[in-house]
Parts: sequence; C-alpha cells; structure tokens
Amino acid sequence: MKRQGFSLIELLVVIGVVVVLIGLAMPALKYARDSARTAQCLTNAGQLAVAITTFSGQNRNRLPENRTVVGEGEYITWREQLSRDGFYSDSSGRVCPSHKNPGSEFGYSEGGMLCVGDQVSSYALNGHVLWRGGITDDNAKISDTVIRRPSHTILVAETNRGFANLRVSNPYIANYYGDDPGPYGYWHRGDAVYSFQDGHAEVISLLDTGNPDCRWHNGRDLTDDPYVPQGNDEIRPHDHPDWEYLVPEVYLP
Ligand SMILES: [Zn+2]
Ligand SMILES: [Zn+2]
Repeated sequence: MKRQGFSLIELLVVIGVVVVLIGLAMPALKYARDSARTAQCLTNAGQLAVAITTFSGQNRNRLPENRTVVGEGEYITWREQLSRDGFYSDSSGRVCPSHKNPGSEFGYSEGGMLCVGDQVSSYALNGHVLWRGGITDDNAKISDTVIRRPSHTILVAETNRGFANLRVSNPYIANYYGDDPGPYGYWHRGDAVYSFQDGHAEVISLLDTGNPDCRWHNGRDLTDDPYVPQGNDEIRPHDHPDWEYLVPEVYLP
C-alpha cells in the first residue's frame, strides 16, 4: 500500500517536537531581547551624560538646573531645558526600551510651581549633585568641577515615575516606600542603568549604588544636605549602614 502524506501520529509527533524546540528557544530569545534593550539603555544614559557635560562646558561648568523657573509660578525641567537649548534632541533616546510606563513631570506641582515643560523620560538627574538642602534659590547651577570623582558619582539614573531628579539616603529609602516600588529603576533584572559624569554607563543594583562606597553622595561637600546620612564626610568615600536591609525587595536582582 502506498503511503500518502503523514499519519495523524506522525503529525502530532512533529508538532510536539516543534513545541518543545520553541520552549527551549524562548528563554534564550527573551535573554537576547533583554540584553539588546539594556544595551540601548546604556547608550541612552551615556548620551544623556555627554549632553549634560556638553551643556556644562558651555555654561561656566555648571550643571543644568533640575527645575528652571520660566514664568510666574511655572517651571521646566532640565530635560526640557536641554532640549530647548539644542543639547539633546533625540526623542527615542529619552525612554528605556525595558521601561513599561515612562512618565514626566509635565502638569506636576512642586512647591507651588507648575511644570509647563518636560519630556516623557526614563532618566533623572542625581539630585545630590545639584541640590544643597535649605537653599531654594539658585539651588542648582552647581559647578560640576566640584564633583570630585566623575567616573564614580552618578549623574543620570533611571526613574520609575518620570521624576526630574532622584535622591537616596537610608531614612529616605526606609520610610518613603513600603510596598510601593518607589521612583527608582529596576527593570533590568532588578538592576538599573546609571551613567556618570565621564559619560560611561553601567548596570547596577540599587543596593550596590549605596553600599559599599556610595555612588550618590561622593563628590562634593554636602554637609548641609538633610538627605545625607548623619556623620558622613561627603567628600570622602562612605557606605550606607544597614542599606541592604532597607532597600525594598523589588530593587533586588
Ligand atoms: Zn533601562
Ligand atoms: Zn551616600
């Protein structure tokens, strides 16, 4: 008897084999896709750091203001400022491809001020290199020449909420979030992308940004910053005691 085509059994076996092969390939494909997204994010964050330092070079070595007053009760963010000044115009590079719900500060009220200009973005400035606690006027515009360790101190960090800047400290982390994921990035397998003043970018866990040898505060005298842990000389390297017990689980790889 001459066979024609496949028997039902043969067809089912072939389908089964194909299903198993797809199952084997999926994790590898997901891994490759995640890796490609992380690489894009590293590029984005690095380009932002370069844009910021270029801005500095043309503005008396000062970092962009986190929030700039542009009118009565109105402000724009540094992201908008850089865009308006032509330092950074790549709209796709503002969002991490792994970031599900990127936001911005547009329409947000801060200290009685309304945000009238911002970009949807995954990236925030490290507020510790901009702000001096208690000084509300001209609180940014800090000279970047006082960042003592440009390759070690975070300049750009991923944010979950579109915040223009991020800050961290032991009490800040411990008291603010609870079960809430909070404002930090964590979508690169629990880690996030950070870039530095020298333009390089790394994937680091939130845990590793604070301890050992803090990457947020090192750089300038922040002894008057209320968000800095007590008893630390901010110019010297320091760690954050008990940091590993305070970082919420969502930020752990
Ligand atoms: Zn990212
Ligand atoms: Zn620190």
